Amino acid sequence: MRNRMIAGNWKMNKTFSEAVVLAEGLAKELAGGTGDVDVVVAPPTVDLKGVAEVIEKEEAPFALSAQNVYWEEAGAYTGETAPNMLEAIGATYCIIGHSERRDYFGETDEDINKKAKALMAHGIVPISCCGESLEIREAGTHVEFVVDQIKKDTAGLEIADPAKYVIAYEPIWAIGTGKTATADDAQEVCGAIRKTLVEIFGEETAAGIRVLYGGSANPSNIAGFLEKEDVDGALVGGASLKADGFADMVRSAMA
Ligand code: PEP
Repeated sequence: MRNRMIAGNWKMNKTFSEAVVLAEGLAKELAGGTGDVDVVVAPPTVDLKGVAEVIEKEEAPFALSAQNVYWEEAGAYTGETAPNMLEAIGATYCIIGHSERRDYFGETDEDINKKAKALMAHGIVPISCCGESLEIREAGTHVEFVVDQIKKDTAGLEIADPAKYVIAYEPIWAIGTGKTATADDAQEVCGAIRKTLVEIFGEETAAGIRVLYGGSANPSNIAGFLEKEDVDGALVGGASLKADGFADMVRSAMA
């Protein structure tokens, strides 16, 4: 059985003090617990420590994620963050391969694969993003495109515990645009991802890997996605920046 997951990607939003206020607000909203739903927040790197402190102090029922990592352990890589640094600060998840990193910073599937391996070596759970552009969607080759990304991103990974590797399907044309994929669109691709995982890792492991949908998910549309067999939750951008709305999404996943 896969526990649902609701993960908030704060992107490059919130100063240190604003991030603390948002985390405190979310801790208050979710004080009653989140049942079987795993809740994750991903603040900017410089805010991780502040949010980690809120989680500890408030015994908040959510986990801490970074938004990016570098695959080397240490050294002359100006501006980068190593997996052991994330581990030391209390991050237990890390988003990798977000389309904004692929598009603006030239990240490749090979980079994403190296990042996944480096994180897993430190016990940090990758939330590995994939998804097609509008052009690919309109050409009708989106399923093949995403399947190819999955094969490259997971190449050579050893997944001992399937709860510790998460995929987020995020059609690029739906991210931050207010234009959501339909629940059937999401199921089509998430189902194809699951089939690919079966081919790569076998039935049992594939059945335990969470596949999230991301792209303008919000409190009003999340329930429809969660009804789908292969959609195990959501990676949420804009709608994760308000504690009450994000908590409503968590409550939808608990229902
Ligand atoms: C995201 O950045 O992962 C995302 C899904 O953003 P939004 O929800 O704002 O579309």
